[in-house]
Amino acid sequence: MVLENYEELLDKGYKSLPEKVLRHERFEIPLVESFNQGSKTILKNFDFISQTLRRKPEEIVKYLTKELAVPISIEGQRLILQSKFNERILNEKIKSYCETFVICKECKKPDTKLQELERGRRMLVCEACGARAPVRG
Ligand SMILES: [Zn+2]
Repeated sequence: MVLENYEELLDKGYKSLPEKVLRHERFEIPLVESFNQGSKTILKNFDFISQTLRRKPEEIVKYLTKELAVPISIEGQRLILQSKFNERILNEKIKSYCETFVICKECKKPDTKLQELERGRRMLVCEACGARAPVRG
């Protein structure tokens, strides 16, 4: 048995566990798959990213538009960015989005939701540990 297969073994072992447990133990910030097309950047797996983070695509787009300062549109499962970016930059932005809007500050789990408050303020509410924290931005 080689050590490389450890993850695979874990996968097999975990198959019988409920999905929720699996999410907790194995959450990883999803990695961007993108390529440049002319002066644009196509983010291929945006659908997957928003599903993994359990956030509305529009919310993530709003964040990225502000951070990257370019027009961005959703096209099916993909995102079209009106400028050239490399994957490293996009991954950094997705990571910082997660840290601000997804990951619980207390228990570091991703099982959170955003609660709308008055005057456009928002609260990050953790379904795992019950922590509540105001969100900036
Ligand atoms: Zn928590």
